[in-house]
Amino acid sequence: MIPGPFELVRATSVEDAIAALVEHGDDAKILAGGHSLLPLMKLRLAMPAYLVDISGIPGMSYVRVDGDEVAIGAGTRHHELEKDAVAAAEVPLLPYTASQVGDPQVRHRGTIGGTVAHSDPASDLPTALLALGGDVVVQGPEGRRTIPLTEFWLGFFETALAEDELIVEIRVPRTGSAGWAYEKFTRRANDWPIVAAAAVDGRVALANMAGSVVRATATEEALARGASIAEAAALADEGTSPGADMHADQEYRRHLARLLTRRALERAAGAASAAA
Ligand SMILES: Cc1cc2nc3c(=O)[nH]c(=O)nc-3n(C[C@H](O)[C@H](O)[C@H](O)COP(=O)(O)OP(=O)(O)OC[C@H]3O[C@@H](n4cnc5c(N)ncnc54)[C@H](O)[C@@H]3O)c2cc1C
Repeated sequence: MIPGPFELVRATSVEDAIAALVEHGDDAKILAGGHSLLPLMKLRLAMPAYLVDISGIPGMSYVRVDGDEVAIGAGTRHHELEKDAVAAAEVPLLPYTASQVGDPQVRHRGTIGGTVAHSDPASDLPTALLALGGDVVVQGPEGRRTIPLTEFWLGFFETALAEDELIVEIRVPRTGSAGWAYEKFTRRANDWPIVAAAAVDGRVALANMAGSVVRATATEEALARGASIAEAAALADEGTSPGADMHADQEYRRHLARLLTRRALERAAGAASAAA
């Protein structure tokens, strides 16, 4: 299948991209790696008249330490994050999770800004980002604003981003040697997760257990009260609303959430004690 007709606008700066979004309103869509948007366009689930290509904007791909945080440019591709030395030292959950996204072709094209903006509840990196906490920095005609990751994803394909705004940066706390783990359950290698769990510093996030990636808050609260990993993980699916499809029904997804949370917490605890 091929997408419907569209006009390509090659943005040369963030301001240029925002001007195109303002000019064309909801007829326009940002194009980054194209690995989520183009499949939707081929299925006619998205039919933008204008694609604002941000892949040629210089300076949108970086990972750097900024005080207590790591700042990641929205144009950073999954493969770049996977191989980045700063990320490996400061926030190792992210490069590992990036290595689990799709196949090499997807990782060489897809960007962190794209996967965050897309808001697919099955996405790997948003799950890890939600466990880390931190912020999304967006820019629009009025300048920049910062949205906490906990408030960014509103539901399936729905975010707090305004029509004329662009994600420019993601900021997460440096975790250094704190224990972390990402457990992804797939039917075949390279697949999207049926369910996944990310754990770091007593926080847990789940993929594919609701309309967006979600925190396992009952588990986190139990850990904070001093519950054992097994007791806390048994609560992982509380408050979630998983869907059902040909790969897994709701009960099986709930079972996976509890199991993967336990594995992630055990692995994170092991990594933390090894680093101590
Ligand atoms: C075969 C295949 C397998 C995949 N497997 C996985 C997997 O296992 N796990 C996983 O997590 N993902 C998977 N993906 C998705 C992949 O990670 C995508 O690259 C990613 O979700 C979107 O990034 P992108 O840069 O390609 O975004 P695009 O497709 O270019 O854009 C996606 C959406 O985000 C918007 N957007 C992009 N950048 C910005 C920005 N900076 N500011 C505001 N809006 C923006 C676009 O307008 C569009 O609505 C897979 C994709 C394919 C094709």
